[in-house]
Amino acid sequence: MTENNSVPYQLLIHGERIQGDDIAEAVINPRTGHTIADIPQASAEQVDAAVDSARSAFKRWKRTSPSERAAHLLAIAAAIEANSQALCALETLNCGKPGRQVAEEEIPAAADVFRFFAAAVRTRTAPAAGEYMPGYTSMVRRDAIGVVGTIAPWNYPLMMAAWKIAPAIAAGNSMVFKPSEQTPLTALFLAGLINDILPPGVVNIIPGRGDSVGSQLINHKGISMASLTGDISTGQKVLQASVSNIKRTHLELGGKAPVLVLEDADVDAVAAGVSQYGYYNAGQDCTAACHIYAVKPIYDKLLTALADKVSAIQFNVEESSNHLLGPLISQRQRNSVASFVERALELTHTELICGGHIPDMAGFYYQPTVIAGARHDDEIVQREVFGPVVSVTCCDSIEQAIDWANDSQYGLASSVWSGNISNAMRVASELEYGATWINTHFMLPSEMPHGGLKRSGYGKDLSMFSLEDYSVVRHIMVNHS
Ligand code: NAD
Repeated sequence: MTENNSVPYQLLIHGERIQGDDIAEAVINPRTGHTIADIPQASAEQVDAAVDSARSAFKRWKRTSPSERAAHLLAIAAAIEANSQALCALETLNCGKPGRQVAEEEIPAAADVFRFFAAAVRTRTAPAAGEYMPGYTSMVRRDAIGVVGTIAPWNYPLMMAAWKIAPAIAAGNSMVFKPSEQTPLTALFLAGLINDILPPGVVNIIPGRGDSVGSQLINHKGISMASLTGDISTGQKVLQASVSNIKRTHLELGGKAPVLVLEDADVDAVAAGVSQYGYYNAGQDCTAACHIYAVKPIYDKLLTALADKVSAIQFNVEESSNHLLGPLISQRQRNSVASFVERALELTHTELICGGHIPDMAGFYYQPTVIAGARHDDEIVQREVFGPVVSVTCCDSIEQAIDWANDSQYGLASSVWSGNISNAMRVASELEYGATWINTHFMLPSEMPHGGLKRSGYGKDLSMFSLEDYSVVRHIMVNHS
């Protein structure tokens, strides 16, 4: 750890690392169920102080040039890489993730997001300035919004911090960031790195529970925008909180990604893809390949291939292990997953292909599970399980699969698998989802937008579109008469 992180679990408010003044929240290691640390939450006064700090920093930060802000973002990316071992150790400890996943995928991705927005903010475009009315010159500015209050979930704590902080500060906003109370460790470590780089107040980081710190932050009159990655019900609270001062909102909510398998798909490739992207991060991913609509001619063959692949997934008991599957984040989450599976298997038409049980070991693990014979209106197909569980539904035709995939409250991510790219493109064009992958799933380059439709929310993370969401377009007109 760096020197500034020698007392690692402190808040960051206006360039000061301070202890939270409110009650402590236990942070649990999901591999063992043991407490890692009791971290005092921010008090109501500290939330106010963080917002005040961001408001005063905004006045200066919004006037910095894109190149100046870019230099800061590049320095943060370099600091993340320089401290990748410490960040990796904390993320695996706090989330139970396989060490390889964090070291090779999540930390490089977090650094890349800061690099992407450093470049993107210097290359923004707008309509040409000109005389759209004779005698008047018009031009478009893209300016910062103000203080952004951001609330993050527990499934990718460091990556979510990067996705939220990088575009917001690149665009010239200041912010108050609240990590999930279950996974604050890497955000609080990042606070130390950021504090060495950014002027005081540009980013403030305050841990705490959703119903106290989170609620106060989203309802705060001092913030101009509230941004959330979280549950639909939390998104609804953000919307309610935006009513009083008409805050801007940016909502990345749940997902339930359908995987549409056409008759001409490479079934082994589908099974390999689903066994990877349905179970990555123990399925705690809003884009997880978690329910399959397969057409009749390939349904049985796909089930056999899936059973082979998924039953071979090994649990990750060592933090540094290369295995794919770690534990779920908490006992509560594991129990929730187990009860989804129990209810699905009480139905007479469903069949357990593999998994379906809590393994006899310490920690919050759940066996990688495939449930076949699920019907479109079953709970296991309709609701987000957020665990290592994939359901398979047999369809009479690809038209039926499209109709069923679109008949969902969610609209975040989807995939289409076919040996005929033209067929796949046609199906992709019919789907009502923010992302559709063809013959793959789950790929999230920093340059491409990530965000949903329907109850999955709106607003984009990643890409130039996120930079647009965190800024405001203004028209300036000069009268030459
Ligand atoms: P959650 O909504 O319970 O918690 C998310 C964050 O919101 C946490 O920091 C929590 O403290 C805070 N929060 C809770 N209640 C609040 C309130 N009343 N006011 C303000 N803040 C409050 O979600 P979670 O359980 O941490 O994460 C899982 C959910 O997030 C899933 O539904 C998942 O699909 C979704 N998710 C979505 C995306 C996406 O990109 N769309 C990505 C990751 C996770």
